[in-house]
Amino acid sequence: MKIEDYIKAGKIASEVRELVRSKDWIGKTVFEICETVESEIINRGAKCAFPVNTSINETAAHYTAEPNDPITITDSDLVKIDLGAQINGFIADTAVTVCYNPEYDLLVQSAEEALEKAMSMVRIGVKVSDIGRTIETTIKQMGFKPIANLSGHSLEQYTIHAGKTIPNVWSIGGFSLSGNSAYACEPFVTTSEGGGFVRNGKIKNIFALNSRKKTKNEEADKLLDFIWENFNMLPFALRWITKKWEEKEARVLLDHLIKKKAVQAYPILIEIHEQPVAQAEHTFIPNETGVTITTASQ
Ligand code: MN
Ligand code: MN
Repeated sequence: MKIEDYIKAGKIASEVRELVRSKDWIGKTVFEICETVESEIINRGAKCAFPVNTSINETAAHYTAEPNDPITITDSDLVKIDLGAQINGFIADTAVTVCYNPEYDLLVQSAEEALEKAMSMVRIGVKVSDIGRTIETTIKQMGFKPIANLSGHSLEQYTIHAGKTIPNVWSIGGFSLSGNSAYACEPFVTTSEGGGFVRNGKIKNIFALNSRKKTKNEEADKLLDFIWENFNMLPFALRWITKKWEEKEARVLLDHLIKKKAVQAYPILIEIHEQPVAQAEHTFIPNETGVTITTASQ
């Protein structure tokens, strides 16, 4: 583990997240948001760890803009902007919910507060089941519901979801945090009318490499190499390919790679009662006395 790279990536991700929080995105398309935020990451000397997610209202996660995506932010929308920076594959994963409708202020606050409370208790040896309980209690005390089937995760070099999960509700078992490991904590919150779970939606616009095995289609195999060289095993979007292939062709080639199981497509995640969802997220590394929150505000 290279702590310096984690910290560098975290500082960049945190700066960009705070910029996202302070900006007025009303009237902007999700395409503009994704491209702007991704440029801010790159201009600071990091690479994007995954396509910027702009998940609106009942869509909890995993929506990124299509090429020239016209979906436009209105003053009643609740938008989760989830962004990742990486240096040599060491990832900072962080998110903020922007919202211009005061009706949702408390919902957003509850996600932030649950995250803050979780961060204040982490150090080496803390059980993730206790973190889950703190998140759940904080959210419920404010009259809302945590999303039980979305969770935080361990991070490894070039791997965002490295196998271990940090729950957003109390749950049996789990592991204890170790030092020298990076994790993301990400409470998701919905209203009391929400089901507190997400389901897969139809849209899939985030992809990742699954296997580098050739598919015998020469152009598709070129795309396969391009994906490996540029994104490694990290997620990518069609927008990132259309810089090299024309959109129509890129779609055909990508579909071919998905059919051959060389590439995996991730569906968007929607709250089961279609209630609005808010999110907050930090990346952190526990130590003996406490924690380094790599994405903490400076
Ligand atoms: Mn994230
Ligand atoms: Mn995450």
